[in-house]
Amino acid sequence: MNTVMLEKYAELVIKTGINIQQNQILVISSPLECAPFARLLAENAYKAGAREVVMNWKDELSSKIKFLQAPDEIFDEFPDWQKEFYLSYARKGAGFISIAASDPELLKEVNPERVVRVQKASNTALKEYRERMMSNKNAWSVVSIPTEAWAQKVFPDATPEEAMEKLWTAIFEAVRVDTPDPVAAWKAHSQQLKQSLDYLNTHKCKLLHFKNSLGTDLEVELPAGHLWLGGPEHTAEGIEFVANMPTEEVFTLPQKSGVNGVVVSSKPLNYNGTLIDGFSLTFKEGRIVDCKADQGYEVLKKLVETDEGSHYLGEVALVPYNSPISNSGILFYNTLFDENASCHLAIGKAYPICLENGADMSGEELAQAGVNDSMVHVDFMLGTDDLEIMGETITGERIQIFKNGNFAIA
Ligand code: ZN
Ligand code: ZN
Repeated sequence: MNTVMLEKYAELVIKTGINIQQNQILVISSPLECAPFARLLAENAYKAGAREVVMNWKDELSSKIKFLQAPDEIFDEFPDWQKEFYLSYARKGAGFISIAASDPELLKEVNPERVVRVQKASNTALKEYRERMMSNKNAWSVVSIPTEAWAQKVFPDATPEEAMEKLWTAIFEAVRVDTPDPVAAWKAHSQQLKQSLDYLNTHKCKLLHFKNSLGTDLEVELPAGHLWLGGPEHTAEGIEFVANMPTEEVFTLPQKSGVNGVVVSSKPLNYNGTLIDGFSLTFKEGRIVDCKADQGYEVLKKLVETDEGSHYLGEVALVPYNSPISNSGILFYNTLFDENASCHLAIGKAYPICLENGADMSGEELAQAGVNDSMVHVDFMLGTDDLEIMGETITGERIQIFKNGNFAIA
């Protein structure tokens, strides 16, 4: 892979993604295989004025060994020092970059119960940290680069080197690093997202009705005061950052008890190293009352049963079928990319920032406003080329939001 492109990518992540500020601490969570890129990020961060770059190395093969061989009781424990690690840096105003590059098949021989228990223990311990991120108290950014295992899953017929090369190319395209000036390309892209946002935020809908030939037939109520967001976000201090690179979505939150009908997945979901595929969820008054899956049913069921809030939705996001990542035709087996190729929903916690004044509301106030809370937030994809979305505005007007998988709004 081309070092000029790599340098451009690192600069983009530091300037546009996390938008590092003078004297700010930066925490980089990176798989060991991605160390050269993490170091490049660190160099760019110091160049841009970072006070300290803290490396948080992850090794998924060590995690796998632990999942397969450690005594059972360990999977409900989360180390205090790690909790302290995230929280102490968060309280100091650090920015957090995560490199998401896991092997989609990593944990396929692992008992799914262990995976869910570890996730639960981690989400419980990191509740305050997660709430800070989901309310944009700190800047954060999730980005990706290829790893061999991941590339091989995406391009199974290619040689390992070809697969890596192809995944690099696909990622560079998705994050617009293949353009002459990626920072400018992101500004233009944000402007485009803003057009859909402006429409949705002026024609406020109280209900969205999703329908397609896969079998999705789902009504989703939106709470009064919901906000559609997309593109760059802002911290409480007004610092602009991009939480996901790439990002093609505009999103808001559903009314917790206002979801009814059936949704059928349109892409497999990689949940912590296990694939869930060909699944559907049935909702009654917001609650998931039934779920089915061709693959990964046990994991899906355990995910839904994580806590009370994981029985409800926390996000509604719109992505046109005709958009760059979707048009690439590549199934990434990585939610960062697949969710940005498809309309999606999330099981679990809603982003308080999607409600007027939500970032400043207490847990009780949020619950009262119909904002779901959970230890999990897991996106899954439902968009297809024949997806229709009808909206009903607060004034009772019916408007077509999506037709044949794309925005129908003027
Ligand atoms: Zn989303
Ligand atoms: Zn999400």
